[in-house]
Amino acid sequence: MATFPDYKDIYVFVEQKNSQPAEVGYELISKARELVDGSPELGYKVVGVLLGENVKEKAKDVIAHGADKVIVIDDPKLKDYSTQFYTDALTQLIEEFKPSSLLTGATVLGRDLAPRVAARINAGLTADATAIEIGKDVKLNSRNGVREIPNEDALLLVTRPTFGGNLFGTIVCPDTRPQMATIRPKVFDLAKPDPNRTGEVVEFAPKWTEETPLVVVEGILPKEVAGVDITKCEILVGAGRGAEGALDLVEELASLLGGEVAATRAAVEDGFIAKERQVGQTGKTVRPSLYIACGISGAVQHVAGMEKSDYIIAINRDPEAEIFKIANQGYVGTVESVLPALIAEIKNIKASR
Ligand SMILES: Cc1cc2nc3c(=O)[nH]c(=O)nc-3n(C[C@H](O)[C@H](O)[C@H](O)COP(=O)(O)OP(=O)(O)OC[C@H]3O[C@@H](n4cnc5c(N)ncnc54)[C@H](O)[C@@H]3O)c2cc1C
Repeated sequence: MATFPDYKDIYVFVEQKNSQPAEVGYELISKARELVDGSPELGYKVVGVLLGENVKEKAKDVIAHGADKVIVIDDPKLKDYSTQFYTDALTQLIEEFKPSSLLTGATVLGRDLAPRVAARINAGLTADATAIEIGKDVKLNSRNGVREIPNEDALLLVTRPTFGGNLFGTIVCPDTRPQMATIRPKVFDLAKPDPNRTGEVVEFAPKWTEETPLVVVEGILPKEVAGVDITKCEILVGAGRGAEGALDLVEELASLLGGEVAATRAAVEDGFIAKERQVGQTGKTVRPSLYIACGISGAVQHVAGMEKSDYIIAINRDPEAEIFKIANQGYVGTVESVLPALIAEIKNIKASR
């Protein structure tokens, strides 16, 4: 017997800026699609949630990325992000439609919105998830004995790093709905959109609890982005503490391959690479086609941010370094000795073309 018979479907909050949905929303739609398709017995749908002004047009893109249905709240109050109005709107949408789960990007906006909504409706929220599954035949151990969760409850098993990234914990919210989670950009694959997919678009008009904004947005200044956005790079050459003496070689290799330099936290803290290039749990999550790790030990906090790269090459003088466990190809040697050979080889290949 389901404990929450009225709560169904996996909802994804698709955040947008200037009516342009952020990629993380589509990554979460792709993940929700995979979860729903993997549990057909639930009869669940993937439902996208679009809040904003003039966003209805974007519903078809959300459907193309895998949603069965999109609920749109199109209202001038939602033009720019406002904690007050977005929380009000999303809370009412949840109360009306009763999702089993709700996924949100762990972006600046998502990290503000999701906890406020969760607190307002007394739902459980797991922040910064790295894996999500629908539980089957789950038995929870508690002080009062073993509790069996009915499969119809579609219990969400949400995994996230804990204890400074040294452990991964799986968190469940068996007693409240929706089961909420925030997920960082680039954690899940983005499925190829299918422009021929069809779905339902539903408009919803909340009854605003308050009409007057508590905060008035006078204007939005575009952030001046200094340097490069490593999350958008196809080739990254990562420098760890072991590459400090060979930074010129790391930079040469990156530029030869048309890529950029990334870094570990140790390299950033030691002051030889800028913070904006840090990869990992407290840095950025990247998914390039090629990641060349130079003098990087492979600590779990770094690996969490780059392990989904398509191809990983590791260079480390220690044959026991953890980084070799996730590398597709490894060179045991110093960065100072391996990189010149690699650079010379690439130059040779380029010259012979
Ligand atoms: C809460 C928390 C969050 C964190 N977040 C992040 C994060 O976001 N990103 C991150 O990267 N780290 C993070 N860390 C730090 C992380 O635990 C590691 O300390 C860090 O990743 C280590 O960086 P490293 O591999 O460059 O340095 P080290 O651990 O010092 O490793 C250097 C490696 O280089 C090799 N080496 C040395 N000299 C050479 C040489 N000449 N040639 C070849 N190899 C050489 C060594 O064998 C070694 O394996 C976090 C830690 C905590 C507690």
